[in-house]
Amino acid sequence: MNADSFGRTVDYLRISVTDRCDERCLYCMPEGYRGWVQRDDHMTADEIIRVAEAATRLGFRKFRVTGGEPLVRADIAEIARRLWDLPGVQTLGISTNGTRLASVAKDLKRAGVRSINVSLDALAPELYRRITGGRVESVLAGIDAALGAGFEVIKINCVLMRGINEGEVLPLTRYAAEREMPIRFIELMPVSRADVLDRSSFLSVQELMRRLEREGMLLPLPDFRPGHGPAKYYAYEPIGAKVGFIGALTTRGFCETCNKLRLTADGKLRPCLGRHGEIDLLGSLRAGQTDPAGPLLQAIANKPENHEFAACYEPGRPMTAIGG
Ligand code: SAM
Ligand code: SF4
Repeated sequence: MNADSFGRTVDYLRISVTDRCDERCLYCMPEGYRGWVQRDDHMTADEIIRVAEAATRLGFRKFRVTGGEPLVRADIAEIARRLWDLPGVQTLGISTNGTRLASVAKDLKRAGVRSINVSLDALAPELYRRITGGRVESVLAGIDAALGAGFEVIKINCVLMRGINEGEVLPLTRYAAEREMPIRFIELMPVSRADVLDRSSFLSVQELMRRLEREGMLLPLPDFRPGHGPAKYYAYEPIGAKVGFIGALTTRGFCETCNKLRLTADGKLRPCLGRHGEIDLLGSLRAGQTDPAGPLLQAIANKPENHEFAACYEPGRPMTAIGG
């Protein structure tokens, strides 16, 4: 089992399969982003599987496919199936904006995907369009299809933005509870469109929890872990919802349980979302180095103790190109 320099077990690989996306979320995609990784720069399905296979040999057990929007890749179900077929993979998830889920949910389920995270920042169609540029109706249809396909876990992700989607918190929580889906509220990380979102758009999960508690109890659910990420879950009694909070910026000790590495769509290993520092894994693979295990071990060794978001960290590439 892989322990990093701070004693954390690293067994979770988040694989970005593209930096492309059919939406333009304010917090993720800079206006006019043209930095698409070129087709040849993207890892092929074979390359992704080579890396994942090496990771399983090192003890990685949890895999999540993300992007950009992973469902824009035509071979997404094939990638999922081949990942699931690797010996040692215990769980496989996909993070998606949901716009294309209606047409592929069944294929993904058949391929072995266990868990789906769907981003949904607003139910109101106009507001959804303002935040993402997309149509909420297609996302809701995607969620219905995922519910019908019978995944083990379907979670809703909502990024909190003061003055933008605060009014959506309760409608979204009700929507999720009615379908027995956990919902997670995520603090805005400073990797967004500075012309639209700035510090004044930030809303902490602590403030949201205090607001929710004015209407009823939030009971901690320490044993409820529907995923492998950093969310802390509570039962919200007035609505009967399971609500998770991801406070990367304000939660003390947030990084203490970090268990993951990220692999970007152009094959760079990132030990931490909130720090510079990448290892060019794809470069060494294409140069003829046969085993990705070396760069994976190096990335584990390079994992820093904490992210640097509080120190006005700005990543060298936007979120869509990192893989959220
Ligand atoms: N396209 C997919 C989606 O939207 O779920 C997967 C990729 S997206 C980058 C993964 C997650 O990162 C989403 O839940 C998204 O809301 C979140 N995210 C993106 N930019 C963020 C930011 N600046 N702060 C916090 N979360 C962010
Ligand atoms: Fe696309 Fe997801 Fe980024 Fe939104 S958060 S722009 S849906 S990759």
